[in-house]
Amino acid sequence: MQFKHFSCLLICLFSLWACNQAQESKTRSEPGPTSENRIFLSLEGDTLGPVQKSEEEWKAELDGQEFNVLRQAGTERAFTGKYWDNKKTGVYVCAGCGLPLFSSETKFRSGTGWPSFWAPIRKDHVWLKEDRQYGMTRTEVLCARCGGHQGHVFDDGPKPTGLRYCINSVSLDFVEGAKMAEKP
Ligand code: FE
Repeated sequence: MQFKHFSCLLICLFSLWACNQAQESKTRSEPGPTSENRIFLSLEGDTLGPVQKSEEEWKAELDGQEFNVLRQAGTERAFTGKYWDNKKTGVYVCAGCGLPLFSSETKFRSGTGWPSFWAPIRKDHVWLKEDRQYGMTRTEVLCARCGGHQGHVFDDGPKPTGLRYCINSVSLDFVEGAKMAEKP
């Protein structure tokens, strides 16, 4: 009788262990909410509400170089940024507010040492502004939601637009594997 109870106990313990193993393997095999399946902006303009913060708030959120580039229109040194040579597929979002700005689909090798794109991910996600600093007339590119400085756009880019959006890596965050939803 005692042996029977012992066997029952063993069977119970084994079942518990097997159940636990199955659960663990299920957890491992199911894809979690990783960046790979993130899709931005499911509805037209649904996240384009302005992000406005004081200089102090930006300073508290950004590191020194991010603040200098995004909020003071600084420029990172060529070939020093994290994305000029990034060839992965995904979406580049504003490092200030997370708005999707560029896609790997329009990134090209410009040889300048800055990430370069021939188009923004959506026209209304960037603001263009005349910049007359340093005795030059250039077109500044800003994030349309937080006004963060991204870089400049020039007309010596490749087809199909002929444009070159020359962007600071520090103004961007890269979300590997992400893509934009189709326009409804
Ligand atoms: Fe932004």
